[in-house]
This record gives sequence, C-alpha cells and structure tokens, in this order.
Amino acid sequence: MNVSHKLLLLLAVSLVLAPAAASAADDKVLVCAGGKMYQSPTAKPIENAIVVMSDGKISGVANQAEIKYKLPALALQLDCRGKVIVAGFWNSHIHFETGWQNAAEAPAAQLEALLQEMLTRWGFTTVWDLGSMPSNTLAIRRRVESGEVPGPKILMAGDIFPKAGHPVYLPAEMQLPEAATPQEAAQMTQGYIKMGLDGLKLFTGAYMGAKPVVNMDTAIVKAAVDVAHAQGQPVFTHPQNRAGVDNALNGGVDILAHTIPTEGSFSAEELAQMKRQQTAMIPTLTLWTTVVSDPAVQDRLVRAGVDEVKSYLAEGGTILFGTDVGFQSKYDTTQEFEFMGRAMTWREILASLTTNPAAFFKAPMKGRVEKGMDADLVVLDADPAVDVRNLAKVKYTIRAGKIIYSKK
Ligand SMILES: [Zn+2]
Repeated sequence: MNVSHKLLLLLAVSLVLAPAAASAADDKVLVCAGGKMYQSPTAKPIENAIVVMSDGKISGVANQAEIKYKLPALALQLDCRGKVIVAGFWNSHIHFETGWQNAAEAPAAQLEALLQEMLTRWGFTTVWDLGSMPSNTLAIRRRVESGEVPGPKILMAGDIFPKAGHPVYLPAEMQLPEAATPQEAAQMTQGYIKMGLDGLKLFTGAYMGAKPVVNMDTAIVKAAVDVAHAQGQPVFTHPQNRAGVDNALNGGVDILAHTIPTEGSFSAEELAQMKRQQTAMIPTLTLWTTVVSDPAVQDRLVRAGVDEVKSYLAEGGTILFGTDVGFQSKYDTTQEFEFMGRAMTWREILASLTTNPAAFFKAPMKGRVEKGMDADLVVLDADPAVDVRNLAKVKYTIRAGKIIYSKK
C-alpha cells in the first residue's frame, strides 16, 4: 500500500471510539485493517475488515462499506491486508515442564522467547496448564500479568494421582500428590484452591509401563470433584484407559484431557453419558505420534483417536483444542490441525480453539471478534477455510490489544 492509499484508508475508517480512548490513550490504540475477518466460527467472513482495539478491548469492528469516522492519529496500525483475522486461540492442555524451571528468576527475554516458541507463535492467547510445578507456573503467570513478559493468559489445574500410581514417564524422584482416600483427595483439592489455581486434574488412570494401569476409585474422584465444583472450578481427567474414563464420568469430571486410542473407541454408553453430563474432550492427537516410535502403531493410535473425536462430535459433544505441549515437544500445531481435519470441519476446529473453550470455561468476553469483547486476536497469513493447516500460519498474536507475537 502506498502512502496516499494508507491515508485514504485512515480517513475512511468508520469506528467510534470512546472519548477517553481517543485522547490520552491514543498510543494504546491498535488497529488491524484490510483483512478478511471471521468474527466467530459460524459467521460469514467480512472482507476488508477493520478492528480497533483500545484499553484491552475491541472498541469497534467494521468493513469499508460502513466507513464514516476517522481513526485517532496516534493509533498503531497493523497492515492486515491479505490476512485473515480470527479470535485468539485457547490451548486447553499444556505444561510448563522441561526448560521452564526457575521461571521466577529467569531473564525476561528468555521467558518471552520460550513463550513465543511454545505458545504465542501458534496463536495462543489463553492456555490451561494441566499439571506442572504450581509455584513455577504461578511465577510465569505473575510476570506475564505484570506486563513484564508478553504472554498468554495462564490458567492452571493441580494434579492428583491414585495411590501407587506414579506414571512411568514422570521422573521417579518427582514428588507426586497421591490420594489414598476421598478425604485426602478433598484436602489436596482445597490446597490447590488456596494456592490460587483454577481447576483440578485427576489421573483416573496412571500408565505404569509393563504393569497394569492404576485407576483412581470413583469415590476418590467424586470427593475431589465435589470440592472443585463447590468453588465453580472445572475438573479434567487423564483417563489412560476405559476404566479411567468410566470412573471419571461416574465421579462427575468435566473434561477428558485426552482421547483413549489404545482402547480403540468409546462405548455407546460412554458416549451417551458424556453427552448427558456435557463432558468436553481434548483430542491431543499429535501426542499419539510422540509416545511410541513404531510408525504403524502411531498410525493406528491416531486413527483411533480421530474416530473417537468423530463419534463424540456425532453425539453433539464439545471438543476443546489441546496438544499437551510442554510434555511433548512438537510445538508446531500444523499436524494437530491436519489430524483434527480428518474428523472435523475447519469451522468446528476454529470453535474448539475459540468459542467452545470460552463457553465451557465461562469466559464470555473471549472467543469472538466483536465490539466490547477482549481484544484477543490471531492474524493468519492464509485462510483456514481453504486448508485447516492455515490455522498454524500465524502472522500476529494479539492479547488484550497488545501484540504478543509478530512473525519476522
Ligand atoms: Zn498433559
């Protein structure tokens, strides 16, 4: 765009800004202009769209046909022509494990680089840490929320394991909270709530390698769920096997943090119960290519996971995007979108990244690009309607009206 075109566009823009935003806060106004915008997964695209963000919120959305007003001169303008604008993404299953130690003392630049590499360059503006060292994750969150380090909104669930259920893939020396009784599980849950965590994750099935999976009793699940639900907090499960799914569902868990591909499929009863209880499911399909080395086994697990996603969608179930990054190291989301695309439309995948988690986790100001909503956006280099893998081609990630990732 040459200068005169840019001026014309500026003069032509039609958005009303609140008086406060138009004066002292002008330098905090961010504009993304000229892109194709999907305001929600079900919306028709708006061509040549303009989004104005100020004070962390979306203060206006329009297309050129509605143009009447002038932008504040000091607004920071992003050239979004040829790009595709969608709401900020949620990754509802991550960890801050290897490489994230000492987050409280790490240099800010190092922390920012790590957050970009794992999360913000893939468009994530809100993430759920489903079990890491709480003090470390809380330190990252503190430094992000203070404005020192650009990063996503971080929510965290505390882990509880079954007695003698220390998964083989976690270091033996790691101290894990194992609950032997319902009382212990309830106490541990209360402890996490006091710590300031946002949810709970129960290992209703713990993987023991050559030995049988250790499952958590339903009574223990239920005791923990009751305490979390009393505080309005969601409960995730790592199910591992069919018994892990069933105990979790019978105990009232809200979200399956994985599919269970080693079991081949969910039973009709499980699908019906999940639907009845409005349980959400996180596919983590890429994970199944990282836990075994034999390509034939990887392929079988991914196929089973895809079929499980398909079967739950057919019931009308809720799918939440999540990859287990930080435990597994494939940060690139391209493959996950490709796998999900075998079971879901691009609009269903976009919903799993935006409106589904916003609704499920009761964040009504997130998930859509509309006036008054949080200014969390992803600007893509290509249209996901053409190829779902384009959801991984992120040009800018914007959280609360600030650019937290910009592709070089
Ligand atoms: Zn995980």
